[in-house]
Amino acid sequence: MLQPIRLISEAAEFAAHRHTGMARKGRGNEPYINHLAEVANLLATATDGADAELVAAGWLHDTVEDTDATREELAAKFSERVAALVVEVTDDMTLSKTQRRQKQIEDAPHKSPGAKMIKIADKISNTRARIGPNLSEDEREDLAAYVIWAEKVVAGCRGVNPMLDVKFDEAAKTAKSAF
Ligand code: ZN
Repeated sequence: MLQPIRLISEAAEFAAHRHTGMARKGRGNEPYINHLAEVANLLATATDGADAELVAAGWLHDTVEDTDATREELAAKFSERVAALVVEVTDDMTLSKTQRRQKQIEDAPHKSPGAKMIKIADKISNTRARIGPNLSEDEREDLAAYVIWAEKVVAGCRGVNPMLDVKFDEAAKTAKSAF
């Protein structure tokens, strides 16, 4: 396996390159890489830098779902565990959005501890991005629907890392005061 700093650096560059030109939902159409950086940094902070593969998987967590990257490519370039973590948090895009959201709730309790941490970090980042001043009616509805669903997914992921659980609860609380 790559040396830890190289692993994370390569993952960040790979993700930045593959997500080029993509914007994230909410908060002024930030570049997608802002979301990946936030998720990776939440994971690094919550584990105090103890798990380089987890942080690398944080950078890469949307590459199979949203870009042309494949599991095989991630396994060859990074590691089998990094690839497995990314695949664990990848939605089946042949399903409808409603089906995917329902499947995330059902599957969450059966995920590995690492995948549960990535899931929570993802929900923290996506909730935060939807909170802002002067939300429109549509944005408030989207925020409410997102948070109510995210709470159900996170319920199946709790207990692995207390810091992530608390940060999600804080984001959800702030969100609820906005709708
Ligand atoms: Zn994500």
